[in-house]
Amino acid sequence: MAHLMSRRGFLVTTIGAASLAGIASFAPAAKGATQTDGTTITPTEALRLLREGNARWVAGNPQRIDHTTNGRELVKGQWPFAAILSCADSRVNPENVFDVAEGNLFNVRNAGNVAGDISIGSLEYAVAVLGVPLIMVLGHSSCGAVKATQAAVDTGRMPGGDIDAIIDQIRPAIEGLPANHTIEQATKANARHSAKELIDASAVVRTAIDKGRLDVVEGVYNLGTKRVQFLP
Ligand SMILES: [Zn+2]
Repeated sequence: MAHLMSRRGFLVTTIGAASLAGIASFAPAAKGATQTDGTTITPTEALRLLREGNARWVAGNPQRIDHTTNGRELVKGQWPFAAILSCADSRVNPENVFDVAEGNLFNVRNAGNVAGDISIGSLEYAVAVLGVPLIMVLGHSSCGAVKATQAAVDTGRMPGGDIDAIIDQIRPAIEGLPANHTIEQATKANARHSAKELIDASAVVRTAIDKGRLDVVEGVYNLGTKRVQFLP
């Protein structure tokens, strides 16, 4: 608990001491994406690492490669090269999907990979403090949250409880599609919608993109083939 409190204290101190613009301008000094040899992982290189890792996972040849080794101890800090906004679904584990070691990915997960305030704040921390060069919004096949939203849109009936808050986040993505859309189309649309919500809501993210330090990309994980379709 003390550790959590300490980290929270650091986060609060960091953000409390600066305006949003201040946090964004702080990002260049963030060291999350810097290798021990001093080179910086670019957004393009980070995306390549995700693609290559998923190819190993698809091929049934996982190696759990650690991209931030060489003298860096996780007990002393974290140096992830990407942040993943993915579903809480128990079958979608980003370290497996992208075949990397602990400490390589900053994972933000919730049902439906939606970009609500808490998720956006977590991703801003990854960008502004940890310096990740890449955010991937990762949807997946057979997503219960997407199916539930389709049902709510079709019937006009909401599930109830705080699940409704998730439905409300996904709903605009579904309502923007033709009435006869497929679950695959809905899943892609939801990933794109979350990415757009993130960018629209976050000055930290937009500034990092404008300065070429960050890319936001979307993908869909197929539970059957284990392949991630990186969306254009
Ligand atoms: Zn899901």
